[in-house]
Amino acid sequence: MREWVEQKLIPHVSEWEQTASIPDGVYKEAATAGVLMPVASGASIIPEWRGKYPVIGNVNPAEWDGFHDLILHDEFGRVGGVGVENGLLGGTTLCTPALQAHGTDKIKNVVIDEILSGRARVALAVTEPNAGSDVQGLETEAQMSSDGQFFIVNGQKKWITGGMYATYFMTLVRDPSGGFTLLIIKRSEGLTTRHIVMSGSNAAGTAFVDLDDVQVPLDMVVGERGKGLQYVMANFNHERLFIGMQSLRCARVCLEDSIDYAINREVFGRKLVEQPVIRFKIANMSRQTEALQAWLETLIFQLEHLQPQERIFLLAGTTAQLKAHSGIVLENVVREAVQILGGIGLTRGGRGERVERIWRDVKAITVPGGSEEVMLDLSARRALKVHEGMKAMKSHL
Ligand SMILES: Cc1cc2nc3c(=O)[nH]c(=O)nc-3n(C[C@H](O)[C@H](O)[C@H](O)COP(=O)(O)OP(=O)(O)OC[C@H]3O[C@@H](n4cnc5c(N)ncnc54)[C@H](O)[C@@H]3O)c2cc1C
Repeated sequence: MREWVEQKLIPHVSEWEQTASIPDGVYKEAATAGVLMPVASGASIIPEWRGKYPVIGNVNPAEWDGFHDLILHDEFGRVGGVGVENGLLGGTTLCTPALQAHGTDKIKNVVIDEILSGRARVALAVTEPNAGSDVQGLETEAQMSSDGQFFIVNGQKKWITGGMYATYFMTLVRDPSGGFTLLIIKRSEGLTTRHIVMSGSNAAGTAFVDLDDVQVPLDMVVGERGKGLQYVMANFNHERLFIGMQSLRCARVCLEDSIDYAINREVFGRKLVEQPVIRFKIANMSRQTEALQAWLETLIFQLEHLQPQERIFLLAGTTAQLKAHSGIVLENVVREAVQILGGIGLTRGGRGERVERIWRDVKAITVPGGSEEVMLDLSARRALKVHEGMKAMKSHL
């Protein structure tokens, strides 16, 4: 994985960030190299995909676990920043599990195959101009056509990562018959995308998506009507976990580049690292990064060893808390890295390039995927629920 990142990504990151585009060929290469299917799988590879798609490093698909997943996202982070990973693979990891778990035969046999073989990219389209953290406020609506053959979708989706590259949009819509329904919408007449220029992550292909009388065949409905939100939420825990993995590697990159600079740069007749205040900063960056790694690995281990229902009940809150914490750690660490690097930490390109990019990207860790405030609140509410659950269990013993 490291070799693939070093050869195929790192030499081009700066250019892709500048041009706000990652060529389709790179996605295809990710499929051939065995990155795509594992990234879509998370902590285990389902039997249906074993042997059908390659696995990076020739890992036996039956043995793929949460630590392989960690290595994958961790190695990706060496590029410095999250724009390239999110633009290239974000949609694949966020959407494919729900498509596989609940999709029709057409979705499983055609759409997923196009995605995992690198022929089409997918993006998750939930957020709207008037509904972000509070998903209940979604306004995009799907009406059944008069002949009952397809849905007609109207609305807008905002900040859709990878939307500029996507052929498919896994879209959550309000269903007139009640609740929210999940549709997989192919880029077609009536669906248009515009690039949103963000403060960082230019290569992520973040898009505003307009849906104007878009026709969606009924075999592109994912699972049962009215249950779409439930399907999307089922993958939130993995999304939060992998954002934690991204934060961790970005923090290590900051540490690595800061140490490298501090041991080489001379100021006032001696190396920067000989200044106690700089060593103090490095020590603080290091203790926060190491603690994050230890917590993340503990959580992955726990997730590996619990049954699915226990995982959600016991660890959804912890996962949300770790996601929030990882962003806070990275904010601290990148701040100190910029201080140590001085001007080059604020200059695009050159020695400070990775730190400068992470400095711009860090809020793309703390806001999406469940903002820091919402995640911390959720973690406390979940902890109270677990407490109540444990009390109830004890009273039955
Ligand atoms: C870089 C980036 C990539 C994204 N990618 C995608 C994507 O691929 N697909 C997609 O569907 N969406 C995506 N989003 C949207 C993202 O999920 C939303 O930005 C996020 O849910 C927050 O919604 P909002 O921005 O509308 O903020 P709001 O919901 O308006 O919230 C504003 C602020 O209020 C705080 N807040 C909200 N509720 C509470 C509360 N109950 N208690 C305390 N504080 C609260 C939040 O922390 C937030 O900081 C992306 C966003 C960004 C910035």
